[in-house]
Amino acid sequence: MGIDELYPPDRLIAAQRATAAAGLDALLLTPGSDLRYLTGYDAHAGERLTCLVLPAEGEPTLVVPRLERPAAEASPAPATGVRIVDHVDGSDPYPLVVAALDGPVAAVGLADRMWAEQVLGLRAALPDAAQRLAGEVLRELRIRKSPAEVAALAEAGAAIDEVHLRMGEWLRPGRTEAEVATDIAAAIRAAGHVTVDFVIVAAGPNGASPHHGTSDRPIGVGEPVVVDIGGTMASGYRSDCTRTYLAGGSAPADFLDYYAVLCDAQRAAVEAVRPGITAAAADAAARAPIAAAGYGSAFLHRTGHGIGLDGHEEPYLVAGNDRPLEAGMAFSIEPGIYLAGRHGARIEDIVVCTTDGVQRLNTTPTELIAL
Ligand code: ZN
Ligand code: ZN
Ligand code: ZN
Repeated sequence: MGIDELYPPDRLIAAQRATAAAGLDALLLTPGSDLRYLTGYDAHAGERLTCLVLPAEGEPTLVVPRLERPAAEASPAPATGVRIVDHVDGSDPYPLVVAALDGPVAAVGLADRMWAEQVLGLRAALPDAAQRLAGEVLRELRIRKSPAEVAALAEAGAAIDEVHLRMGEWLRPGRTEAEVATDIAAAIRAAGHVTVDFVIVAAGPNGASPHHGTSDRPIGVGEPVVVDIGGTMASGYRSDCTRTYLAGGSAPADFLDYYAVLCDAQRAAVEAVRPGITAAAADAAARAPIAAAGYGSAFLHRTGHGIGLDGHEEPYLVAGNDRPLEAGMAFSIEPGIYLAGRHGARIEDIVVCTTDGVQRLNTTPTELIAL
């Protein structure tokens, strides 16, 4: 997969068209996933201003600090037709943004996760321009993945699957969650990720806290352990996969009961995915069997989130989201059951909605894995 397939030049043109259609005069994108989506440039986010100025009509300009100009020139950005201008330390970079706009503007779309100091800097530089979110325009483009993006997500999925398949090397009773997590993090890199985004190792009662992280508590014999891990590949695309393990011994009987319910619910939700069903319906497909078994209130989060250049993005699989799923949408299916003070379980796969169904990008078994 070539970088030009992953970050095609015509994306800027599509974004310009969508910008005009949304009634915006320009998008102003500082480092982050929106900038990378449009130019392929994985820009450093710092106090020095980097900003893609994308007018609804006209030439796109990338404003960069001079010391980062070589990095910008080495990125896919120049091949997308972006002109690069730079500023030196001690000079005010905001007039470069104004100059790149080439005329007065009434409304601009700012990168959704722009730093506040830059939001205010742009407000001062363009006092007459209304500020809106670039996400209004870019969410709709990013929500359907191209075949190259799906391939990049599949590559990330295969890499994190490799790490889960090695879990028996590290996860043992007596080791702390943090010790196990250190080994997992090294393996996430060894499997091809350039960054480790998160490592959750949650044993016994900690498994009842969905975003636990790790701790210095040793893992006990017979404790269920929730392991949720993910990273970013060189492509920019991300992995995210959860499996629940049993560290030696035998699991509590009630745990085995609800794990079977969870496993069936997760599979049912994956199989429900196809074009036309709503995000809310996919959420309900996971939630209904869990509620029917009496664990409804123990499944305390949405069923899933989109994934791509961000770890969490549209579409969100949650009650009330009546948006129909479409081919190319990529998201997690990750129901969980959490019993406070005791234990918990989650099973998470990344899947892609295809033209006639679903493709799993994580393919290891979802049954309870006894080590
Ligand atoms: Zn989460
Ligand atoms: Zn997730
Ligand atoms: Zn996860």
